[in-house]
Amino acid sequence: MARRIGSRYTAHQILGRGSAGTVWLGEGPEGPVAIKLLREDLSSDQELVGRFVQERTALLGLEHAHVVSVRDLVVDGNDLALVMDLVRGTDLRTRLDRERRLAPEAAVAIAADVADGLAAAHAAGVVHRDVKPENVLLDMQGPLGPGGSHRALLTDFGVAKLIDTPRRTRASKIIGTPDYLAPEIVEGLPPRAAVDIYALATVLYELLAGFTPFGGGHPGAVLRRHVTETVVPLPGIPDELWQLLVQCLAKAPASRLRASELAARLRELLPLLAGMPPLDVDEPDTEPAEDTSEELSGAAPAAERTVRRRGAVPLVPGAKPSDSNRDTHTSMRVPAPDELAGGAHGTARAPRAAGAPRPGSARNRAVTRRRRLTLAAAATLVTAAAVGTWLATAEDTPPPPQDQKNSAPATP
Ligand code: ADP
Ligand code: MG
Repeated sequence: MARRIGSRYTAHQILGRGSAGTVWLGEGPEGPVAIKLLREDLSSDQELVGRFVQERTALLGLEHAHVVSVRDLVVDGNDLALVMDLVRGTDLRTRLDRERRLAPEAAVAIAADVADGLAAAHAAGVVHRDVKPENVLLDMQGPLGPGGSHRALLTDFGVAKLIDTPRRTRASKIIGTPDYLAPEIVEGLPPRAAVDIYALATVLYELLAGFTPFGGGHPGAVLRRHVTETVVPLPGIPDELWQLLVQCLAKAPASRLRASELAARLRELLPLLAGMPPLDVDEPDTEPAEDTSEELSGAAPAAERTVRRRGAVPLVPGAKPSDSNRDTHTSMRVPAPDELAGGAHGTARAPRAAGAPRPGSARNRAVTRRRRLTLAAAATLVTAAAVGTWLATAEDTPPPPQDQKNSAPATP
């Protein structure tokens, strides 16, 4: 069932769903595209509208083989849509779910691609802030790379941020996905490029092991592990690869490699990894532990890890254990130092579960009016934000064009 989006695009079938909307296979004046459409009932939500505008803004002028390009932002009636290059393939989460663990060569090739994409984003002054397998797409129509891997592209710059000028203020809110959050974010420091390196190293570990180094249980417990625990070695992993992972999972952001260095070092390892089967790693036990006191006592020997992993103690009581650690959270607060040290006395708001309805009904006329106003504001913001990005990031790129009636082209 085809659906018109603005005056130039038609959406044909659903490719994927994210927390805020649906990604469609669509058609535009220049051929097939992917169209991310904000969910109708969410279009009165200023924060989500802002994320759509942000995504386009972050990517203006960023053309790279390992970054999914945004071509257009369409504001039309109640529709708000982001038009992107179509990637014919699947996302990395789907592949990981299917294969559980990837062979080291394929995992490293994918991570190297993402590191290249990050290097381009960082050079343009943008921190992604939500690197995870869901936001890596695999192009299955292009030629195969090392280890039979498909070209990987980084997508979903919805919570990306321009790298700030130095600030001493501490952030009070955490944005990101718990399993992939760098310790400095948990401690309230502003996100810099190194947070993406930490997240990518976490993804690489996950591709090799089948689970993330600090995930499992309540999001608050996951946050604390990022700050207090050391990563457990993977059996059978070549030492050179392990050293890279350890360096990029360092607690101190300055100790991590930069994206371009990481990409180069990963590619150097590819010949060594050729033909190696997936690592033989035991899944961590997920049964709830009876005694969780260990969880509070800081780092423990590797042998105890699987037991300790079972009893995730909430750092921030209140949220249900079923809150998915894989959703992008935008409502977690930064825990206090005593909470990070092990005390569980916090009272953070529970993160909103994926797809949970926000206040407001699509059928309510007042809401519809508000939504129209929000979208109109978004259209204005697009121009303002586009000019802002141009000023902030580009000296040699031409200024963005003026908005057309219904849409604002992403490329000049
Ligand atoms: P959200 O911001 O809601 O998380 P994403 O941009 O991550 O949305 O997209 C959600 C899913 O839609 C992806 O995991 C992927 O499966 C699919 N998808 C997104 N962008 C594209 C694209 N450009 N081409 C093909 N599929 C895509
Ligand atoms: Mg996403």
